[in-house]
Amino acid sequence: MTVKHYDFIAIGGGSGGIASANRASMHGAKAAIIESKALGGTCVNVGCVPKKAMWYGAQVAEAFKYAPDYGFNASNVDFDWGKLVESREAYISRIHKSYERNLGNNNVDVIHGHAKFVGKHELEVDGERYTADHIVIATGGYPIIPDVPGAEHGIDSDGFFALKQQPKSAVVVGAGYIAVEIAGVLNALGTETCLAVRKHKPLRDFDDLLSDSLVEVMNHNGVKLHTHSVPRSVKKLDDGQLELELENGDVIGPVETLIWAVGRAPATDSLNLDKTNVTKDADGFIKTDKYQNTTAKGIYAIGDNTGRLALTPVAIQAGRRLAERLFNGKDKEHLDYTNVPTVVFSHPPIGTVGMTEEKAKETYGEDNIKVYNSSFTSMYSALTQHREPAKMKLVCAGPEERIVGLHGIGFGVDEMLQGFAVAVKMGARKADFDNTVAIHPTSAEEFVTMR
Ligand code: FAD
Ligand code: NDP
Repeated sequence: MTVKHYDFIAIGGGSGGIASANRASMHGAKAAIIESKALGGTCVNVGCVPKKAMWYGAQVAEAFKYAPDYGFNASNVDFDWGKLVESREAYISRIHKSYERNLGNNNVDVIHGHAKFVGKHELEVDGERYTADHIVIATGGYPIIPDVPGAEHGIDSDGFFALKQQPKSAVVVGAGYIAVEIAGVLNALGTETCLAVRKHKPLRDFDDLLSDSLVEVMNHNGVKLHTHSVPRSVKKLDDGQLELELENGDVIGPVETLIWAVGRAPATDSLNLDKTNVTKDADGFIKTDKYQNTTAKGIYAIGDNTGRLALTPVAIQAGRRLAERLFNGKDKEHLDYTNVPTVVFSHPPIGTVGMTEEKAKETYGEDNIKVYNSSFTSMYSALTQHREPAKMKLVCAGPEERIVGLHGIGFGVDEMLQGFAVAVKMGARKADFDNTVAIHPTSAEEFVTMR
């Protein structure tokens, strides 16, 4: 059997795999990607991109809500879910084509099929054998379905993106990014929506200002929040509707659709890693050091399967930096995982970078932390009957008031965070924010005018 040899192989053609292979190739490496599904991975096909398209659709729906107070007659507005899905999928097809083109231009080979290890450093894809000096495992993850009777009647986030018709009613189970984002989109587009969380609120790991404000707006906007709701079973009724039974005996429903959004697991089971020296932790995440080295020489892992921050730009940066280290002589190049900014595309959106107030107090001591808050009504909504709160917080540490946490929820926060994240990453102090002249009238100016 012939074995094809490369300098660099990425297993997985998602965010991390594509970024690392392109960068390796740009530095002269003979590179290949092995992908079993569609190029672009989770983000492009069943993650960030289709989610953001649905979120933009929801934004349009919200604009119609505001329209009368801005002088527009927006009665009898129809919404066609199928059309939104069609536009979204056409956009995704264009991304696929541009990825294929870029990989072709960079001379990266794309091998279609499922990769598994057949030796310490050898892979098999559909009976063909491949080796490489450097192999990066960038296989991402998949949605978890809880082990309760009737769970199969529900769908996961992949199933949400496959919906051809809008459900009239839905319960979303989970308390993280995906649960909050899907519940927000469904509610804004007119589905009667419940969110079932097993503890006291969603987004518990975020700063309290963000999660508490989100709950307040959700209640106002019509998402029915069920707290302390631990799923026990799902029952399918004769008319096809679903009921979610809870551990405490309560029942949520009947609803047309149940969506599980209770976390994701790493796609590391079917790689035959036992043929290699790569080791995993108890949850199946691949163990890596700060250089993305696994415990096997010449094998690396990046992205969602490493159990670090599961975000597309994180997978991309980790992949590009790995390629810089391997093929561009930058021996110490690696991703710094601190102060990574992130946005939850909730309604309204949440933006956050750095430590929560609680974490900062734990880290620096309560006496060394000063917190600045701002609370107002976004001007966009203030002209209308649908006034929506916006809230912001700066968490500062030490006598120099270095900003160690910056948090916001409200209209436009999603687009305003990136620039502030640069400042936080550079070690900005409160005085630097004070010295920056505000842009008026914006919501962002609140971040530089807090007292
Ligand atoms: P992936 O992008 O998942 O790519 C892995 C690829 O490997 C897949 O294409 C898979 O088919 C392939 N593969 C797996 N095993 C094999 C094998 N054995 N052989 C060959 N191919 C294989 N992040 C953000 O930053 N912003 C967002 O707004 C955002 N929204 C999200 C919304 C949803 C609903 C979800 C689910 C995720 C979202 N994320 C978001 C997270 C983001 O999608 C992931 O962090 C990112 O895709 C991880 O990239 P990756 O390269 O690690 O894996
Ligand atoms: P998360 O890990 O963010 O959240 C899942 C939450 O569901 C848990 O934190 C837990 O919250 C709750 N949960 C867990 N098990 C159960 C259960 N059996 N029953 C009920 N609730 C349960 O996972 P997601 O799937 O939402 O997202 C995965 C990752 O993808 C995110 O962490 C994020 O990194 C990324 N992502 C990023 C987005 C963005 O950048 N905008 C958007 C979407 C995803 P609790 O303990 O409070 O109950």
